[in-house]
Amino acid sequence: MSAKNVNEKQKKQPIQTPKGTHDILSDEYFLYKTVLDKGEEIASYYGFKPIQTPHLEKEELFTTTLGETTDVVEKEMFKVKGKEGDNLVLRPEGTAPIMRAYLEHGMHTLPQPVMLQYQGSFFRHERPQRGRFREFTQFGLEILGEKRAIAEATIIQVMTLTLSELGIKQITVRLNSIGDKECQGNYKKELLKHYKKDTNQLCKDCQRRIKTNPLRLLDCKEEKCAEIKSGAPQMVNYFCSSCKQHFKEVLESLETNNIPYTLDSNLVRGFDYYSKTVFEFFEEEEELENIDTKNEVIKKEGTMATNTPLALGGGGRYDYLSKMLGRRDIPAIGAGLGVNRIVQIMKERKLEPRHKKNPKVFLIQLGSFAKYKSLNIMEMLRKAHISLQQSISKDSIKGQLILADKLNIPYVLIIGQKEALENSIIIRNMETRAQETVPIERVVDELKSIMQ
Ligand code: AMP
Repeated sequence: MSAKNVNEKQKKQPIQTPKGTHDILSDEYFLYKTVLDKGEEIASYYGFKPIQTPHLEKEELFTTTLGETTDVVEKEMFKVKGKEGDNLVLRPEGTAPIMRAYLEHGMHTLPQPVMLQYQGSFFRHERPQRGRFREFTQFGLEILGEKRAIAEATIIQVMTLTLSELGIKQITVRLNSIGDKECQGNYKKELLKHYKKDTNQLCKDCQRRIKTNPLRLLDCKEEKCAEIKSGAPQMVNYFCSSCKQHFKEVLESLETNNIPYTLDSNLVRGFDYYSKTVFEFFEEEEELENIDTKNEVIKKEGTMATNTPLALGGGGRYDYLSKMLGRRDIPAIGAGLGVNRIVQIMKERKLEPRHKKNPKVFLIQLGSFAKYKSLNIMEMLRKAHISLQQSISKDSIKGQLILADKLNIPYVLIIGQKEALENSIIIRNMETRAQETVPIERVVDELKSIMQ
């Protein structure tokens, strides 16, 4: 293609959002705000303090903590070269930055635990598909400096309440323990022994996982790996006594607080920093075989759920993360909700955003003098908390009345040249079509009395 043709093609193609990213227009914006505010409100009652960390972090923060062989580190980070030659990335997840901030600001010297909440954008260079974007929003919670199981129960409770108060009632918490370094070592050996019997039958990813990240073998959704996976040894049988005790306490603390859960012995989470408890939130109750919601299930075998729906959130314990960052072990646990997926469900269910105020009044301005005066009128209404819609650019009364009618707005204020000169305004009831003229300074009182 000649340079001229390339230029012409470029001219015709309007610039759009980058692949996997989206503009959030105002209707959807209110749904995002509803989710984030609901999470923030509930978390604040439970003692989580807000924190905001940068969208840019040093690349090594993630390469040293998530695991060299994870998809995120291997292929999904958006890398940014700083002018000083520093290697930065757009943050792909929230937990490592929170631990960095906790250590950087000496929060380990404060009374423990430190309970933090955050919200914002995260970035992963994934193949865009249903529920998977390159920029996505998470609401996250972290409890740092607490090893007891009540930390797990607190996080799971706040996340579950957030989802259910948003109108997503059927929530399943899938729960598992992946043990600690001690029990994982023995378990991985047995798991590899089992998988190595039949390496050629495995999907490509599992062939790679055998070498790089054996626990992720359990996470495979491929049909061809299902059989070998179903016969795999179970982590529960390899727990050391402290992991066994901790998991029992997690289950007890959930049961004491009536938080329903489902054990899923194939649940493992992607990053290297996880240990012991891991969990994910799903919308529907899944029929897992061989599951039970009693403590004793820890001794039973679980199997993989087929047709796994998209997770609305996930989290886990990460007692080794601070050591990966060069400090002593600090027990900690956290979780993140995927806000885009929650908003999608709310849209499908037609669940109403909390903040969207349907305007009660439409302001029609006719002529430039009236338009100048309209700013004062809008300010009077704002101070009186009367929500208003207007159209600065429309000049015909008919067009503006049609718009007010379309938007189902019950009252219209009309200010034309005459009214502007007389300092008055017309109030029109859209249903009865009755209208009256009142002095501008009386408009708020009049509206309040008729709207009661
Ligand atoms: P993760 O820690 O990766 O499991 O992420 C926690 C939650 O964030 C997931 O359960 C999803 O709901 C959401 N999430 C993760 N990655 C994406 C993505 N690429 N696009 C949209 N949501 C995502």
